Parts: sequence; structure tokens; C-alpha cells
Amino acid sequence: MSLIMKQASAQDSLKPIVALAKRRGFIYPGSELYGGFANTYSFGPYGVELKKNIKDLWWKTFIQERRDMVGLDGPILLHPKTWQASGHMEGFNDALIDCKACKARFRCDHLIEEALGLDADGMALEKMTALVNEKKVKCPKCGAEDFTDARNFNLMFSTHMSKTGHEGDAAYLRPETAQAIFLDFKNVLDTMRVKIPFGIGQIGKAFRNEITPGNFIFRVIEFEQMEIEYFIREKDWEELFKQWLASMHDWCDLIGLKKSRIHEKEHEKEKLSHYSKRTVDLVYDFPFGTSELYGLAYRTDFDLKRHAEHSGYPIECLDLDTKEKYTPHVLEPTFGVERTLLALLCDAYEEEQLENGEMRTVMHFSPRIAPVKAAIFPLMKKEPLTEKAKSIFDSLKNLWNCEYDESGAIGKRYRRQDELGTPFCITVDFDTLEDDTVTLRDRDSMQQERVPANQLIEILNKKLY
Ligand code: ATP
Repeated sequence: MSLIMKQASAQDSLKPIVALAKRRGFIYPGSELYGGFANTYSFGPYGVELKKNIKDLWWKTFIQERRDMVGLDGPILLHPKTWQASGHMEGFNDALIDCKACKARFRCDHLIEEALGLDADGMALEKMTALVNEKKVKCPKCGAEDFTDARNFNLMFSTHMSKTGHEGDAAYLRPETAQAIFLDFKNVLDTMRVKIPFGIGQIGKAFRNEITPGNFIFRVIEFEQMEIEYFIREKDWEELFKQWLASMHDWCDLIGLKKSRIHEKEHEKEKLSHYSKRTVDLVYDFPFGTSELYGLAYRTDFDLKRHAEHSGYPIECLDLDTKEKYTPHVLEPTFGVERTLLALLCDAYEEEQLENGEMRTVMHFSPRIAPVKAAIFPLMKKEPLTEKAKSIFDSLKNLWNCEYDESGAIGKRYRRQDELGTPFCITVDFDTLEDDTVTLRDRDSMQQERVPANQLIEILNKKLY
């Protein structure tokens, strides 16, 4: 299958999810009003709730509930020397190649892989160009055999500080949140009561000027990372690596991803990033193929040493037993917010055939993550049903994100909430006016039970966690 056909079928495999995400206000294409802006997306009212729930739960799990972790919110624009020290200036590149006939641009390693079945990841530029020419690789878009030489394209977005407008005033939007943590390692060490081993966690935006094959929000140019830099003694790295890998699997469980769809992928030694001595990715079976969800890297003492060299300030800890100074080593568990969200959408999505032959689309989000926890309906848009339903909504709204909906047939209102993944629907009917009970409908089983309205908080508290 050609690269273009592969990309098209990958997009087809995501079609129902992309359509639901748009239809139900999870994710809209970026700048749609102006015909779109490649690889950017807006998160609609339910998407933003989902994202917030992911980030809040991550923060609670990895920062709030651990005694060895603290948080940070560093700037997106860091001193430009940061990127020289980190190696991004020199090495954070994709090899790109252009078709001279139709001007289409490709990742050269992807082009070679698709056309020749060879793994070209990390191959030298000259070798790639030679291969494309010798083997007469065709442009997947127009069929021409006329490519430019392969050349490196730095993935960092640059911008200018307004002082003089000179070239030398270029600043870069961070391509990873990690470096902001390294820059403040010493500040945290000096101002907090932390002792090695400890970690600093951060959630924030990162930017990468990537050519993407269009797998929806899998690879975007602006995304959020939830990253941890965990500072350790060198001798402890193997044991702590195992522990972090286990914690990352626990996280996948906590957010409700199916265990059977998550696998570990060890990076080959020759292909490790310049800073890493070991990297294991957690990969997920997306509809378009198994691809990286999260990563765990042992970054050694590379970053802290480089920043010490480039800044001229030592970045060291004191060993209280030996009284010797040393540079801590670092483990980095990293989690992309958009990829988490995409995995959750794929994992939760089901088109279910009901006993009566009808189909329903349902999102089986874990209640911890679901954007709306409960929807409250009056059976009909009629007083005093509406007044009672509104009063129930008011009693729940400060505890959970709930919805009140009074319009349309009750069946349609249930279906809408199924597509949003709302775990519970509460309906006020004429019996409620007699005995103060309501129906509580479970999204997955669609079973309804009658429960006292004044016990809803207690009941939901048990069911939602
Ligand atoms: P890939 O190999 O897919 O390009 P990477 O190995 O470069 O990813 P890292 O640099 O390890 O990714 O980034 C950490 C995490 O950030 C990834 O595991 C992923 O969840 C997320 N991420 C990276 N690049 C993107 C992107 N362009 N769009 C969305 N999320 C991303």
C-alpha cells in the first residue's frame, strides 16, 4: 500500500471517532472558519472537561499523593542557551525531502520505509538521498521520480523578542517541558525540603513543527505534556526504572485503558536519543496501528551537566554521608495529554447492537474521567417536574460536573448522554412527586433503579470512584 493510501486508510479507521468528537463537542478542527489550519485542534466543551479530568487526576496521582514529588510551572520561552545545552539546536531534526514536481513534502525516513521496506530511522542524509535516487522512489502523491536532496529541518518553532528584531534575538517555543524543570532544579533543591530521590512534575504546552500523517490529535504541532523528572543516585537507576514503569501501567489502569491494548516497546540501543541510556515506550493499539502513548527514559546526568557547563554554575547535591558533591541522574516518565485523550476516545468507543435491533453509540469512559458525571432530566418539560429536576441538579452541581436537560424525547436524551459517556442519568417522573424517588440509569447496562432523591449524593459518591 502506498504512503498516501496508508494515510487515507489510517484516517478512515479513525473516522467514527473524529465524527463523534466533532458532533458531540469534544474536538473541533483548528481555525475551521478560515478553512482549517493543519494539525491544530480546538477542544470543545466536553473535550476541555475530559482534558481537565486527565490533568487533575495525573496531578493528584503523581504530585499530591506522593511525598517524594513537587510541582512546577515553568515558562514556555526559556533562555535560548537552554536549547544549545540540551542538544535540541543541533539534533532535534526531522529529515525532510520534497517532490520537485508537485512540491509535496515528506519525512524521508517514512518515504523510504514505505517504498522500500527499509528502516531508515536515524540514517545519514546522504545515504537517504542516494537511496531515493538509486532505487527510483516515486512520489506517493504524483508518481514523479524527482526529489530534492534530503535535509534536516529543526522541529523547534522560533519567534523573536521585540527588543531589536535582530536574528540573534530568536527565542524558541519549548519542544518539551522537561528543560524548564532542569533549569529550576537548583531552586527547588534550595527552597524546598526535598532529598534525593525526589521528582519535579509539570503539566504544560510544548510545540513541535512536525510533518504529520494526519492521525487526528495523535501528532499535533501544539500539545500538552505531563512530565516528571525524577532525580536519583546513579546506582539506583535500574530498580527505580522498574518502579516507574509499573507506576505508568498503574496510571493506564486508573484512567480505564484496556490492559490488553497497552504494550512495552524497548528502544534499540543504537536508536536511543542522545541523552538516553535506556528508553521504554508504552505503546497503545490505536485503530491506525500500535504507536507511542508514553515514554520512560533514563536521561543519566546529561541535562544537569550540560546546563552546568553552558551556564557556568555548578548544579550539584551534597552526599550527607560522604560529604562529596555529585550530579544527580534522572529518570523521565513522560505523558502526552492529547495522546491520552485519543487513546481514551478509541478505548471507550462502542457501537452496540441492542436487543430490539437498534444501534446505540456509547462511550464507556471510566467515571473518574467522564466529562459529565450525571445528567438530570424531568420526564417532560412540565411543572412541577422541571422544578424538582432543577433542584436536584442544584444539589449536585457543586460536587460534580452535571447537566440538566429538559428538551426532546427521553430516549433521545439518554442516547445523547451515552455518546458523551455520562455514567448516570437521573430522571424525575410523576412518581417522584408522590414518594420522592427518582430513576437512576446506568450507562453501560442501561438498567434503571429507583432510588430516594435525598440519597443521590451518597449513592453517586460510591458509584463514581
Ligand atoms: P514520537 O516518536 O511519536 O514523535 P517522541 O518520542 O518524540 O514521540 P517524546 O519526545 O518522548 O515523544 O515526548 C513525550 C510525549 O509527548 C510522547 O510520549 C507523546 O505522548 C507526547 N508527544 C510527543 N510529540 C507529540 C505530538 N507531536 N503531538 C502530540 N503528542 C506528542
